[in-house]
Amino acid sequence: MISSLVADGWRESPSDEADVIIVNSCGFIAPAKKESIDTAFGFRTAYPGRTIVMAGCLSQRYADDLAQQMPELDGVFGNRDLGGIGAFLDLIAANQRNPVSVAPPVAGVEASEQAVTSEVVGDRRRLLSPAGSVYIKVADGCDNSCAFCAIPLIRGRLRSRDPDVIVAEARLFVSRGIKEINLIAQDLGSYGRDKRDGREIVSLIRRLLEIPGEFWIRPLYVYPERFPKELIRVMHDDDRVVPYFDIPIQHASTRVLRSMGRPGDRKSHTELIRWIRGELPDAVVRTSLIVGFPGEDDEAFAELREFVAEARVEWLGVFEYSSEEGTPAYRASRGRSRVAKRVAKQRRIELENLQTEIVGERLGRFVGREIDVLVEEPVIGESIVLGRGFMHAPEVDGAVVLRYAGECPRPGSVVRARIIRRTGVDFEAALLTREAS
Ligand code: SF4
Repeated sequence: MISSLVADGWRESPSDEADVIIVNSCGFIAPAKKESIDTAFGFRTAYPGRTIVMAGCLSQRYADDLAQQMPELDGVFGNRDLGGIGAFLDLIAANQRNPVSVAPPVAGVEASEQAVTSEVVGDRRRLLSPAGSVYIKVADGCDNSCAFCAIPLIRGRLRSRDPDVIVAEARLFVSRGIKEINLIAQDLGSYGRDKRDGREIVSLIRRLLEIPGEFWIRPLYVYPERFPKELIRVMHDDDRVVPYFDIPIQHASTRVLRSMGRPGDRKSHTELIRWIRGELPDAVVRTSLIVGFPGEDDEAFAELREFVAEARVEWLGVFEYSSEEGTPAYRASRGRSRVAKRVAKQRRIELENLQTEIVGERLGRFVGREIDVLVEEPVIGESIVLGRGFMHAPEVDGAVVLRYAGECPRPGSVVRARIIRRTGVDFEAALLTREAS
């Protein structure tokens, strides 16, 4: 949206100077929806006279409700036609009160016919990702139908991007000094399944590795049942693909997984993680789990807890089930199999406490090691800069707290450092060499 607006003659400015404030919303689960709405309210209170537009997934999902029930907004803009944002703002400027633009109106079959939004937006010069890092979306939408999940409603069916365009985009970013390419999709392993022309994720990564230069490729979000095992071979062949595995498992009880509409079981999940670690001893695994899904009784939760204790992943996100209208699980979540919010919260805290013990043990193995660190952000007033190693995905995992003498290493550069100790989920490290690559 930023690139498209700049191409249309707009200029980015701080909120207190802006004519228009665009809140890019999330509509996935209740806390995200609340955060989006609170943010828009906050801007309206702080800047009564400005134009405020709610864009993104919440707008896509609840366009009419927002337009009718939130007079604080001047416009509601969905997630399918990002390049149309400039024309949309022109509509508001022409005094069309509270217009709505969601194309198509609600995610449906027609959505699959649409171009993937980023294909039509063009050159992304201004990035919102951390220094030196970029997210490249390789596909949008999802053809899985997990019973709890609103994403297929919001994002539509799977649409894989053209590999030539993705490679060209990555090449441009590397030529501009980007050091980390995070490949994202709702499920990376599904890339190409909608096209039947042979495109798939491992060949795409091999093509990206033809780009000369030192950079990391971090493949995020792989659905466990379609894990592309060739990925391990690629990581063996070229260490620019970091051994980081983000595999959302959601649950370990077979009964709960089936009612979630997901295949696999505790045994298959554990074996996959064990196999990855056997192939790549440095492998770091992140997963996410849902507690409080309808039908999760004490026995099912005990199985989940045992799985967490056994799998010992490095990074774990635990979410309380959020009942989302329009999803297959919505009705069940109102019936007898419903799990009380209080119980879901207790279960989340219990797993988080267990994970706190596990994380110490799993991260301890890196202490004393020399690693490359992607420098992100100086700490003002101290000779400390924050960064990340291969074991940290941007924004969700821990950090490397790097001490230096003299000049601060440049954000966006990669330096060499030795990990001295672990503090909680972070590492403290000493700078060895600047601009390692
Ligand atoms: S695979 Fe992920 S995005 Fe797709 S329906 Fe399941 S949880 Fe949602």
